[in-house]
Amino acid sequence: MKRLVLKFGGTSVGTIEKIKKVANIIKKIFNEGNEIIVIVSAMMGATDELKKKSNLISNNFDDKELDVLLSSGEQVSCSLLSGAIIDLGLKARSWQGWQIPILTDANHTSSNIMRIKTEEISNFVSQGGIAVITGFQGVSMDNRITTLGRGGSDLSAVVIAKFFRADSCEIYTDVDGIFTTDPSINNNAKKIDKISYEEMLEMASLGAKVMQPNAVQASMVDNIPIHVKSTFSEKPGTKIISESEIDHKKAVTGIAYSKRNAKVSVIGVVDKPGVAADIFEPIGKNNINVDMVIQNTSLDGKKANVTFTIKREDLNKTLSLIEKSKQKLNYNKIIHDDKLAKVSIIGAGMIANPGVTYKMFRALADMKINILAISTSEIKISVLIREDLTQKAVKALHKSFELN
Ligand code: ADP
Ligand code: ASP
Ligand code: MG
Repeated sequence: MKRLVLKFGGTSVGTIEKIKKVANIIKKIFNEGNEIIVIVSAMMGATDELKKKSNLISNNFDDKELDVLLSSGEQVSCSLLSGAIIDLGLKARSWQGWQIPILTDANHTSSNIMRIKTEEISNFVSQGGIAVITGFQGVSMDNRITTLGRGGSDLSAVVIAKFFRADSCEIYTDVDGIFTTDPSINNNAKKIDKISYEEMLEMASLGAKVMQPNAVQASMVDNIPIHVKSTFSEKPGTKIISESEIDHKKAVTGIAYSKRNAKVSVIGVVDKPGVAADIFEPIGKNNINVDMVIQNTSLDGKKANVTFTIKREDLNKTLSLIEKSKQKLNYNKIIHDDKLAKVSIIGAGMIANPGVTYKMFRALADMKINILAISTSEIKISVLIREDLTQKAVKALHKSFELN
């Protein structure tokens, strides 16, 4: 008998019909003789609707209350799904994070799971019950509800699979698996059979929202294989596994993109040690994530321009922080652009294949797409481009790297 963790995302439980379908999938897998722990996300769009409500109260809505509010979507889907399974004649029960408890740190809106008490649910499933657990939420040591960051039910699934020593962690979603790029913007995207943790981590961090980056990170650290598959088809999905089990035939495995990027250039700062630290210190202290950074120095070597990228929603705050340090930084001016996207090619095969960089730049140049910034790591190259050119760039790169 195997113990399976099955996670159903918001797209899989978006309507009552879909919830009934999911209940039938669970029944089938249960009848094959497995112990089942189900993790469920809120019905599609529910968390966004709750977030909008909080914004109607304040754009600075208290984060502890935000966690109570946003986690409520999972309570609804969890009880509906558990009820649907009971309606099929099986034994099922819902659990919210705090009831188990799933203990997290107190880092509200992006908490980490520290510990999970397993006894009660283990007994329940070993006696033929189907446990249905709310994804995305937990409880802190000081007894406050927490959430794990948007898309966090993926993380719940991976960590629950770890604590319950599951034989398999299956992520059910609305596409057949991980594709070479987002199938919703390129119908030439192809399903990948196997992808390494490292590549998937880059794909997820660089925008492929099919898996939450923290979930991939957690699965990599604890070596928990993940199987991503569709709720709506029987096709085999994608296995996320160790690099050593994969033979890389191509230089590039996949292409990811993220929109809503902004670029800020601080023009004419004095080129001396400490300036970059002075620019980025207040930004970091305000929890704003800086992504790409470029510095160029004037010909006489006295002045420099520092350019960096952030998320669009952080632009106003960033600008006001830099303006506050005007005296200290003594720059000439700030310029910014907030309609940018980052497009990335990812592949462990890059390490052994020279010439990937020029091929990427050539493919974009042929499409007359201007590159505004570049960043690289061992297994990815990212470029910043105009946001309205995202789809064109993804399609060109997809073709150029023979992924079509
Ligand atoms: P869920 O509700 O199951 O959590 P998400 O909406 O979070 O589903 O993730 C699934 C979506 O991720 C797909 O519908 C797809 O548009 C998008 N996506 C982005 N990049 C990829 C990719 N490389 N492979 C598969 N799906 C991707
Ligand atoms: N419902 C949460 C969200 O929309 C968590 C999840 O879907 O994984 O972010
Ligand atoms: Mg998701």
